[in-house]
Amino acid sequence: MHRQGSSLTVVEHPLVQHKLSLMRDRNTSTAEFRRLLREISLLLAYEATRELPVAAAEIDTPLERASFPLLAGKKLCLVSILRAGNGILDGMLDLLPSARVGHIGIYRDPRTLQAIEYYLKLPDDLAERDVVLVDPMLATGNSAVAAISRLKELAARSIKFVCLVAAPEGVAKVSSVFPEISIVAAALDRCLDPHGYILPGLGDAGDRLFGTK
Ligand code: URA
Repeated sequence: MHRQGSSLTVVEHPLVQHKLSLMRDRNTSTAEFRRLLREISLLLAYEATRELPVAAAEIDTPLERASFPLLAGKKLCLVSILRAGNGILDGMLDLLPSARVGHIGIYRDPRTLQAIEYYLKLPDDLAERDVVLVDPMLATGNSAVAAISRLKELAARSIKFVCLVAAPEGVAKVSSVFPEISIVAAALDRCLDPHGYILPGLGDAGDRLFGTK
């Protein structure tokens, strides 16, 4: 794990880095890409939840009663930015099976790269939940900023953003608008190309995940 500045944490664990390198390979199949994303997402969820509070509880082992830590009633909500965010949900839910799940549909206008919301479904009690917002690619940051704005408007108790690959431009954008938001990523890449794709990146995460190109 490496903290870059105040808001970005890059997960440098060798398993995460190895799996991400395989995902970047243009010859990796859709099935393999999906499986790797699920595996990395579990590891990113591990990092994103490292500050969950625990409280001591009495537990009877087969030998004696003793006090052990249990999660302290923390209410989590995973929110996926459609559609590529859904690729992260499965791995995270493997680790956090009781988490609630919300979806925000945002597409970016290919001409202006601006984020446009077209779908929203979130738990009613968002104000009592800590949100882990997921999207594999933090590129311009416009979708992330739009999603975070919406979650704040609905009074989410806290928000963390988890992605696979971040561009410096996206990190700068999110951090300038929301300096308090922590970002967890598996890599910080070089820059964006003129179409808003991350270089070297892994291409279009949605297309690679769902085999649509
Ligand atoms: N979205 C993607 O899927 N890939 C990028 O490189 C940038 C945005």
